[in-house]
Amino acid sequence: MRIIDAHIHTNFAYESAGVHARELGVTFSWEALQKEMKENNIAGALIITTDHHAPTPAESDILIGQREKDPRLFPICSIHPDYTDKRHLTAIELLLKKKAIFGIKIFPGYHPVYPSDKRFFPFYELAGKYGVPVIIHTGDTFGSDNLVKYSHPLDVDEIAVKFRKTIFILAHLGNPWVRDAAELVYKNENVYADLSAFCISHPEHNEVKRIADDIKFAISYSARPDKFLYGSDWPLTSMKPYINVIKRAVPKKFHQQIFFDNANRVFKLGLQ
Ligand SMILES: [Zn+2]
Repeated sequence: MRIIDAHIHTNFAYESAGVHARELGVTFSWEALQKEMKENNIAGALIITTDHHAPTPAESDILIGQREKDPRLFPICSIHPDYTDKRHLTAIELLLKKKAIFGIKIFPGYHPVYPSDKRFFPFYELAGKYGVPVIIHTGDTFGSDNLVKYSHPLDVDEIAVKFRKTIFILAHLGNPWVRDAAELVYKNENVYADLSAFCISHPEHNEVKRIADDIKFAISYSARPDKFLYGSDWPLTSMKPYINVIKRAVPKKFHQQIFFDNANRVFKLGLQ
């Protein structure tokens, strides 16, 4: 099966990502990425800002440069809440106009800022205008220095209602607040979720059933298999074992949608 991975990170110069990846047994390099994509039949991948400290439009040069080398890679640039003035908005609009980026991302939890913070509003408006999704980090954070009250998925309800024309993707399905995230997907036409990074804090084999139960619940409660996207969060897991975990979690009849069609449609990737 051909797969679109809707959530990976590729700033190979960002050292702490490389260190974490190594601890998890993953090589964080361009060559390793190419190899894992080939072995796992990855037809496309959304490459997302790795370093959330980088100013808006975060890592745009790196990500766009990588797309020039490999057209299967689709850049997603993040917005830093301290760099949200007119200049930064104009920079993002220019990238959207050139179709150089396929969406934007914010990192609540990693930044002590709610998704409903007004500084982000003009960017949500812009995403709606250009028809690209906004990915929002939701759920647990990597490392205990961050504040997870900001990354609880429920706050996204406010902006989903306020910006109806903008699509919001709950990264990590709000894990462990999966029920709250499922409610948002059910209630709001414009809220989607990706299924990345469920294994990072719980790699033990006996956790696979709990992960499958959570994901099955969300799909069945929302009754919207058209709004869930496969994603890995590579390099924080290697691709193959994670694909297998999510294949077990997603009912087989939804594999084509969740592993390929939904991401292709919502990010307008145009992959065949
Ligand atoms: Zn990620």
